[in-house]
Amino acid sequence: MSLIKDKQLADISINELLIPSEKVAHVQLNNPLEHALLVLVKSGYSAVPVLDAKYKFVGIIGKTVILNQILGLESFEIEKLSEMKVKEVMNTEIPTLTRENSILDGLNAVIDHPFVCLVDQEGYFDGILTRRSILKEIKKNIYINSYKKQ
Ligand code: AMP
Repeated sequence: MSLIKDKQLADISINELLIPSEKVAHVQLNNPLEHALLVLVKSGYSAVPVLDAKYKFVGIIGKTVILNQILGLESFEIEKLSEMKVKEVMNTEIPTLTRENSILDGLNAVIDHPFVCLVDQEGYFDGILTRRSILKEIKKNIYINSYKKQ
């Protein structure tokens, strides 16, 4: 059932759309790139969150950055996958949100990113909000509004 039936998009809380941390595939700072690439390929995701040993959010890592790192002049330098660690190549320059942010803050963040990570007040990883989940709600909103007009 659509969340929009009784509410406008702006009234929906991030809590209602987030994928909770326990359902999110992640890697850790000290994992070798080989492990990260395995997680990414097996899960089918293009990028996943990176957490520290205390499960605080520190960044994201994706397939493209890993493949770029191991790309030599003429071939892939596969041995780098076991030599290099996630912390050496992950992206830390990305926005995060908390559950207190509005869904419109989420919408703003997923314009430039396929998903945005949520953290709590102490920086512990709380889950993700995906572009897909927001677009699905917007689509429902458009259908319901057009039905109401008929
Ligand atoms: P989606 O909008 O479902 O296609 O997801 C967009 C991106 O969000 C994926 O490519 C992943 O990078 C990330 N993502 C979505 N769901 C998960 C999950 N359960 N665990 C880790 N990353 C996820």
